[in-house]
Amino acid sequence: MKVRQLILLWQLPFWLLLLGSALLLNSALEGRVTATRQATQTRMRTEELAGVLQAVVDMETGVRGYVIVGDEAFLEPYRAAQASLPQRFERLKEPNRPTTRTEVLRLEALLKRWQIEVADPEITARRAGQEAEARRLVQRGTGKRLIDQVRAQIQVLNRSEVQHLRADETRAARQLQHLRRALLAAGLLLLAGSVAATVVLASRLTRAFQALALAAQRLSAGEPDVRVAPSGVQEFQQIGAAFNTMSAELQQSQALAQSRQVDLEQRNTQMRSLSELSDWLQAARSLNEGAEVLGRALPALLPDTQGTLLMFNASRNLLTPLVAWGLPEGAARASSPDECWALRRGEARFPDEGRFAPPCLSSGLPGNREYMCFPLFVHGETLGVLRFQGAGAAPPLLFADKTELRHLLVPLTRQLGLALSALQLQDRLRDQSRRDPLTGLANRRHLEEELDRQVSLSVSTASPLSLVALDIDHFKRLNDTFGHDAGDAVLVQMGQTLRKLTPAGALAARPGGEEFCLLLPGFTGDEALALAEQVRAAIEEWTLLHAGISLGRITASLGVSSWGEAAPSAGVLVKAADEALYAAKRAGRNRVVLAGTRLDEPRATTTVPLS
Ligand code: GH3
Ligand code: MG
Ligand code: MG
Repeated sequence: MKVRQLILLWQLPFWLLLLGSALLLNSALEGRVTATRQATQTRMRTEELAGVLQAVVDMETGVRGYVIVGDEAFLEPYRAAQASLPQRFERLKEPNRPTTRTEVLRLEALLKRWQIEVADPEITARRAGQEAEARRLVQRGTGKRLIDQVRAQIQVLNRSEVQHLRADETRAARQLQHLRRALLAAGLLLLAGSVAATVVLASRLTRAFQALALAAQRLSAGEPDVRVAPSGVQEFQQIGAAFNTMSAELQQSQALAQSRQVDLEQRNTQMRSLSELSDWLQAARSLNEGAEVLGRALPALLPDTQGTLLMFNASRNLLTPLVAWGLPEGAARASSPDECWALRRGEARFPDEGRFAPPCLSSGLPGNREYMCFPLFVHGETLGVLRFQGAGAAPPLLFADKTELRHLLVPLTRQLGLALSALQLQDRLRDQSRRDPLTGLANRRHLEEELDRQVSLSVSTASPLSLVALDIDHFKRLNDTFGHDAGDAVLVQMGQTLRKLTPAGALAARPGGEEFCLLLPGFTGDEALALAEQVRAAIEEWTLLHAGISLGRITASLGVSSWGEAAPSAGVLVKAADEALYAAKRAGRNRVVLAGTRLDEPRATTTVPLS
């Protein structure tokens, strides 16, 4: 129901009451008018009766005068009255009052009788000059008796009229009284009803508005899910429905804003993580350090996943795992680049992407679950591939939104590509700056750096450290005899031999020319001496050909310096090894000499005799 209809409906009883009151008033006034008219008519009839009485008097007086005097002039009032009487009687005959009508007819009959029996015989007698007869008729008394009856009849009619007048007035007064009461009652009823209706209507409207206002307050206070019951009149239902729609939309937009906020925070967290990763990768000095960082960063950036980061090897025919996370120890294995569709197509691969995507050839990851592959590109070159899958039975939350995943992985893989490429370059440059290009052994610079580092380490851990200095015997002569190339070939052979015999943790170096070194952390003098002897023996065993010509017997002299508890400098250790080497030269070459442990004192050398 509409507000307009509600108000009209509430007003309807009052209007009906008003209409009833008006009708009542009208009928009462009608009654009052009727009563007044009746009273007027009664009064007119009373006057008419007075006229009749006067006419009777005139007629009687006229007849008596004529009888006495005999003058026709006395009959004029008689005749005038006689002429007026029929009209008067007609006027007195009230059709609605049969009693009055009967009484009037009786009066008329009495008068008629007086005329016939008294007036007419008396007039006729007097006109005929029979005065005595006329007097006798008068004296007879019939006229007086009849006139008395006429008078009495007029009085009866008069009384009846008075009674009617009183009755009419009483009825009119009673009607007025009723009207007054009815109007008072109707007025009071109207007043009370109007007050009650106004109060009820106002409270209904107020209640509806209050409910709406309260809901709006709650909504503006940030309360979610505020709804109003769509009840009451149509307009309130419409407002309520509109409010509910507005509230629902507000709730939706709040939820959207919240989810956007969450997305934004998540994106910010990812950006922070990426930035942090970038910082750490920039601080890394080698690919191995980068792998250390990534081994920690990737599980955090890709939660609930397991996977590997594979890099192309130098010859680009194999992908070797640089980092693995979430996988059992040793599970990450190298694979062929041909086994990866993502690498073949040069773009990222999502599990459920593409109608024509064939199954992966070999992921190297456990189980048959689908996985994602993101090739790492740098300057148009493919560096490797980031490959991962969900670690649990249920897919990780990260996989739910592919767009979000792309938002994370596109910058991540770009960053990884750049950082790993830079680290590879660093490794390469460092390698070049540290390695002797001819033999592949460490160069002098690397040897010196490593020597300083190992001396410090040895001092701090009180562990032994040994150094072997090696010099090829009569190398100049070899060069001169077989040529510089042959000399180079011997140097290459020396590099191979030393690499082969150098134990893990030790460093073989070529500081320059035909001189070589072995830095042996953890080796005592005796152990170093034994190793040096092994090297010397291996060289002696060479049977080298160059350009099809035998290079003859090649030997080398070696000096060994070492210490256990003392903490001298690297320079002292080198000098001692050199001195031992020169001692070996002096002693006839192709031998190993161990420097004394008391290196600051005149040294006692141990000469190992030629076998
Ligand atoms: P000793 O037994 O006393 O060590 O005699 P040696 O001839 O080996 O010693 P020396 O110092 O007189 O000669 C070293 C030679 O090594 C001189 C140089 O021509 C040669 N040599 C240095 N570097 C290279 C190189 O890179 N390639 C070749 N082929 N020869 C080199
Ligand atoms: Mg030399
Ligand atoms: Mg030499």
